[in-house]
Amino acid sequence: MDRSFSSSLFLATKIRTLLCLAAAAALFAATASAQAPGNAHAQLLQLVDKNAAQWQQVSKQIWDFAELGYHETKSSQLLQEQLTAAGFKVQEGVANEPTAFIASYGEGKPVVAILGEFDALPGLSQKAVPTRDPVTAGASGHGCGHNLLGAGAALAAVALKQYMQEHHIAGTLRYYGTPAEEGGSGKVFLVRDGAFKDVDVVLHWHPENHNSVTNGGELAMVSAKFNFHGIAAHAALAPDRGRSALDAVMLMGNGVEFMREHVPSNSRIHYIISKGGVAPNIVPDLAQIELIARSPFAATLKDEWEWIQNIAKGAALMIGTTMDVSGNESYANILPNDPLAAVAQKNLQEVGGYTMNADEQKFALELQKTFKMDNVPSLDTTHEVEPLRKFDPNQPAASTDVGDVSWSVPTIGFLTATFVPGSVAHTWQAAAASGMSIGQQGMVVAAKAIALTGLDLLTDPGLVQAAKDDFKKQTAGKSYFTAIPPDQKPPLNYRSE
Ligand SMILES: [Zn+2]
Ligand SMILES: [Zn+2]
Repeated sequence: MDRSFSSSLFLATKIRTLLCLAAAAALFAATASAQAPGNAHAQLLQLVDKNAAQWQQVSKQIWDFAELGYHETKSSQLLQEQLTAAGFKVQEGVANEPTAFIASYGEGKPVVAILGEFDALPGLSQKAVPTRDPVTAGASGHGCGHNLLGAGAALAAVALKQYMQEHHIAGTLRYYGTPAEEGGSGKVFLVRDGAFKDVDVVLHWHPENHNSVTNGGELAMVSAKFNFHGIAAHAALAPDRGRSALDAVMLMGNGVEFMREHVPSNSRIHYIISKGGVAPNIVPDLAQIELIARSPFAATLKDEWEWIQNIAKGAALMIGTTMDVSGNESYANILPNDPLAAVAQKNLQEVGGYTMNADEQKFALELQKTFKMDNVPSLDTTHEVEPLRKFDPNQPAASTDVGDVSWSVPTIGFLTATFVPGSVAHTWQAAAASGMSIGQQGMVVAAKAIALTGLDLLTDPGLVQAAKDDFKKQTAGKSYFTAIPPDQKPPLNYRSE
């Protein structure tokens, strides 16, 4: 991303950086002499607590809106209004995404960005109760907790902004309102549009069933619809006049199954036949297979994706149909950043999770009865912080467009216990907890960890530099891969197709 632009400005940037470093060091010395870092953290945590109720309320409103990707009009508007009221300057409709926005405070370097999401999932409408009970049957719901994600990230940004203002901390703080994470690749188009090009470090979090730092991981992912076009004919009277698009789809599926034996075992390939003809007595002239491929490694996925496309071309050729590809989606894996992970871990441990009150415990125990699992985790895990883990490519994982950001800017993230222990994302159980105090408590833990890490970055130029050095090391000899064609626009109708 804009590497040549960066290198041509290298000398000027270096001089400016040295000047900034000197200024920042002087400022840091002044700040440090006025108060010990421990005291600074304590004051910032108080600011998060002071603002928490307002943003918990915002999270509940977004939970009620439950808007799907690229349709998050009310959610985005609410966050923009509240951030504007808190003193941020808002730029809306970024990268041709009407619900994307950037809220900014302060000026100069470093530029620290916090990511917010707010899209819901189809079909997961659920009341904030521990048994399955939709608000509206079949409607969307916050089964991934993005209502908490967006509001919690904003809570961190507002508290940190207030601290920066009170203590005259230099630098720029930004909140990125990023739509359509649950399909639609919202951040991929923001990255492509250069929205992160001057950002030094990105902080993010995601609702989970435990507290930990997420240092890299998740799977690089590509998905697309393969459309086969044949010739319709009477299936009994004149099959020789037809060419079956469904036959091509089935051959593609077979090809992928044979391919599966020869890819690494941590690759994932899954598909559905999304169109298979209209009646058995008509040779199908249109059939479609919707396929997702994933790998912990971008380079592996790139090769596999080429192979899958060749299988599709071969299948079309074997049957005498034509084939085209539409609806490309692509998420990169998240790159680790070790210096950022070390600081994030220290800060999450300092925050230390939360303890459920009696009502929350009652709710959680009731909800846990609906799990189909042998060893249901203890409710005590919400106040524990897991040790920092090394990246394990064989760990079960999903995919997120945060990955694409991490290939552009040093990035680190948190997971906090917003779901009842034992819950998994994309379920009604996760939607239920996201609309009540269990989710809202976990959200404050995340906001605190993000705010502390943001402050450490704003006041320690050495840490920002270490993050950048590690980013260079992590990306050396590797190249960013996206399967989204360069001319593709954000698929704003993704969820209504
Ligand atoms: Zn999700
Ligand atoms: Zn999610």
